[in-house]
Amino acid sequence: MVSRVIPVDVFDLVIFGATGDLARRKILPGLYRRFMAGQMPEDSRVIGAARADLTEAAFRDQVRAALTEFVATDHLDPAMVEAFLARLHYVPIDATGSTGWVELKGLVRPDVVRAFYFSVAPSLFGDIAQRLSEHQIADAWSRIVVEKPFGRDLVSAKALNAVLARHFAEAQIYRIDHYLGKETVQNLMAVRFANILFEPLWKAEYIDHVQITVAETVGVEGRGAYYDKSGAMRDMVQNHMMQLLCLIAMEPPYHFDPDAVRDEKLKVIRALKPVQAEDIVRGQYGAGKDGAGYVTHSENPASRTESYVALKAQISNWRWQGVPFYLRTGKRLRARASEIAITFKQPPHAIFDDAKGWHENVLVIRLQPNEGMNLMVMIKEPGPGGMRLMQVPLDMSFADALAEVAEDVPDAYERLIMDVIRGNQTLFMRGDEVEAAWAWTDPIIEGWEARGDKPQSYDPGSSGPEDALMLMHRDGRRWREIKE
Ligand code: NAP
Repeated sequence: MVSRVIPVDVFDLVIFGATGDLARRKILPGLYRRFMAGQMPEDSRVIGAARADLTEAAFRDQVRAALTEFVATDHLDPAMVEAFLARLHYVPIDATGSTGWVELKGLVRPDVVRAFYFSVAPSLFGDIAQRLSEHQIADAWSRIVVEKPFGRDLVSAKALNAVLARHFAEAQIYRIDHYLGKETVQNLMAVRFANILFEPLWKAEYIDHVQITVAETVGVEGRGAYYDKSGAMRDMVQNHMMQLLCLIAMEPPYHFDPDAVRDEKLKVIRALKPVQAEDIVRGQYGAGKDGAGYVTHSENPASRTESYVALKAQISNWRWQGVPFYLRTGKRLRARASEIAITFKQPPHAIFDDAKGWHENVLVIRLQPNEGMNLMVMIKEPGPGGMRLMQVPLDMSFADALAEVAEDVPDAYERLIMDVIRGNQTLFMRGDEVEAAWAWTDPIIEGWEARGDKPQSYDPGSSGPEDALMLMHRDGRRWREIKE
């Protein structure tokens, strides 16, 4: 199998914040990989912008260093690196001032796709949007890409949407949630909507429950100040986990079209029941062997910010009546593993005298590590001695099935940037989706604040707080083991 690289139109991509961490780690290495794959047309250019007073040569040196650090060695062809660097330009610019904007206008070409990536703090989004339109650097065909966090509650998200809407139409705004750029996440839609096999079973009648897990082994070291104002609910649940839940729960859109898909996701978010206090557990990791717990990393000894959340979500519609969606995410857990597990109900009548008694099918969609899917099915245990059953995986690991193309599978950022250039918003969040997600999350966070709730402490390297186990035990269910 040979991978197909679909060409895009010639573009000028301006990256505001081109010297920052995200640009160095993800955006520029991603663009280099797309360049290597032949997806950057001859005349396309990348224009870096930040306040630092760098020459073009100094900026290229910085990017060369970033590629050396963040691109796999076997992809670092020196001639290709130099050819890529030759496409780069740099303008010192102040988002809040007047420096650099005239120079930027002189650089950006009017007759190519123009995209502007706001890889800066959200407090600068309004300033940049305003200057782009004031100086007529962007026009009605230009696109802007904005990073998370998109607000910290409904009020601030509405304010951000309003600021951007003053200068850009919704069809020009690309709100990134990099989870939607993951291969497996898109495969979830392919599995659901391109096969007849699953859709008839995809409802309360046949599904017992859904588990979504995003577990990390790292803590908040080095990002403590930022994270302490955010917490797992804002950083993970409101955006990434909510998007995953939507893709599992949404009705089939009439077409794989940006607004058709986003309309269906929005309906799911709006159908979410408010979460009751007993259906949610917050945790904070305690001190590990090194003596450093969350409060050491956050540098706030009195911090009540959660590094872990587990909750039971319920969707008030016909398809999902009575089917709980259990979500959990946390830092410093026992393994780094993100997955969605859909557990089907038991057959209605047991014909086998099998001592184990459970006959569950589970569809496991693995986001990281080892992206892939597994369908757990019951079979007969081999050998004589009667009809004993066992659960085995029907493995659909992408690394094996797609071995020849696996190397060329773009990472989430690469794919999403190319979608921006193509003008395809399907995998980006619409403003009303983001607002609806905050409307569901806000009362949970406000409840914690009003009650002065403290997160439950959990041991680093564990599966999370005790109460999170109880959240499922109480319903006669168990979390899946967190393992890589
Ligand atoms: P960062 O490392 O602090 O970089 C910020 C960038 O913005 C720098 O290039 C900085 O360069 C530039 N900048 C700051 N003030 C400016 C101004 N007034 N005018 C023009 N440029 C200015 O931040 P980051 O980690 O890359 O994050 C960027 C955005 O991505 C944020 O919204 C963040 O929440 C989001 N994000 C980051 C990550 C990540 O892994 N890093 C992940 C998800 C989302 P100068 O100081 O030279 O101006």
